[in-house]
Amino acid sequence: SVGIGGRPDLSGHVTLDACIMDSNSNCGSVACLEGIKHPISVARRVMDQTPHVMLVGQGAKDFALSCGFKHVKSPIKEVKKEWREWKRGNKEKFKKPTINSENHDTIGMLALDANGNLSGACTTSGWGYKLPGRVGDSPIIGAGLFVDNEIGAACATGMGEAVIRISGSHTVIELMRQGYTPQEACEEAVSRIISKHKNLDGLQVGFLALDKKGNYGAYSVFNGFNFALKTVNKSSLIDAGYNRRW
Ligand code: ASP
Repeated sequence: SVGIGGRPDLSGHVTLDACIMDSNSNCGSVACLEGIKHPISVARRVMDQTPHVMLVGQGAKDFALSCGFKHVKSPIKEVKKEWREWKRGNKEKFKKPTINSENHDTIGMLALDANGNLSGACTTSGWGYKLPGRVGDSPIIGAGLFVDNEIGAACATGMGEAVIRISGSHTVIELMRQGYTPQEACEEAVSRIISKHKNLDGLQVGFLALDKKGNYGAYSVFNGFNFALKTVNKSSLIDAGYNRRW
């Protein structure tokens, strides 16, 4: 349910969010971008080719087209069909996500190169059936993604509103700066989310972190969050630790 074939907003528009950050703290971001297949590549262009960090909506779209990205028709017909069916059965103003099926399919990626330099990216179509114009944590530097090449890189998935509320990925990095391991930092950020929300119903959030030495950690509010690890010698899918079962 992520990307151009992902779930649309309440009015049937698929709007994409993405950001990217490198080891020199260069960053680029797009939000509420419609009709462009790879928003992360547009975010990369924002970083490389403009003096700005974030472009949104029609401005982001115009920029993408001016860079040579092709407009693609969206939503695709399968998405449209599913949305119509959903609309028929749901008259709510917005849809509260249910854990593990609709609210954490964001792609977050953290990388450490052979020279010890860190970078990261985050991309999503966001909360399915969100209010039109809603932007989550994923394109927000410091919330969905943060990289500080002296310390580490972190990214988030899940309910963006909760991640933004604690500046999630930046918080993870600042905890690591204070001496927390990546695992401890992800756990502390999750407990901060838990302590700031009285009602955890449907509130899945997961953090992933990597330090300069290649140590990594991941943790989520509820079970069901996993991540892929790729090193020179191995590739594996790892289940993250969690605070509670849903
Ligand atoms: N974090 C994303 C958002 O709130 C959603 C997700 O991770 O699936 O937009």
